[in-house]
Amino acid sequence: MSASIDLTTAIRSIPDYPKPGIIFRDITTLLGDAVAFRQAVDELVAPYKALGIDKVAGIEARGFILGGALAHQLGAGFVPIRKKGKLPHQTVRMAYSLEYGTDEMEIHVDALKPGEKVILTDDLIATGGTAEGAVKLIRQLGAEIVSACFVIDLPEIGGRKKLEALGVEVRTLVE
Ligand code: IMP
Repeated sequence: MSASIDLTTAIRSIPDYPKPGIIFRDITTLLGDAVAFRQAVDELVAPYKALGIDKVAGIEARGFILGGALAHQLGAGFVPIRKKGKLPHQTVRMAYSLEYGTDEMEIHVDALKPGEKVILTDDLIATGGTAEGAVKLIRQLGAEIVSACFVIDLPEIGGRKKLEALGVEVRTLVE
């Protein structure tokens, strides 16, 4: 097995994006690096391999990229959670909190069956508002949220604690 790399070196930081004072953590550089992308997926998926996961739910849009890879490795299905108005079939909708204000996300009403074991994924957790909305959608369909995983945690912002308070295990690769 080849030595593992420091994934933080594969993530690009963009100052003042999307607004002055914000440092945006850009994982497109990690995704474009064959070694880093494979390592990130392998590390994310490892704890879940023996758990009989039925579905991986990914949050639009970078959660789709990670979620597809995780689902493939787990032999699970993939389910998109999208911003409102993007899914073609009947949906369940949930409001979620943003840094300033709220928005709404949706899941197809038949995307998960009661009792199915689900992993949630996205590139990054900050306040946890987005992931909290996704957890509520998954639970509303009667499925079991086994864990939520992210490449990047911004621990000082408190998202991990917010999800853990909902009874959701959180796994992340870098801070
Ligand atoms: P939260 O709801 O505050 O936890 O924000 C997480 C959501 O915003 C995720 O869907 C992320 O993709 C996105 N996000 C927030 N900040 C960043 C960043 O610095 N880089 C990439 N995505 C971010």
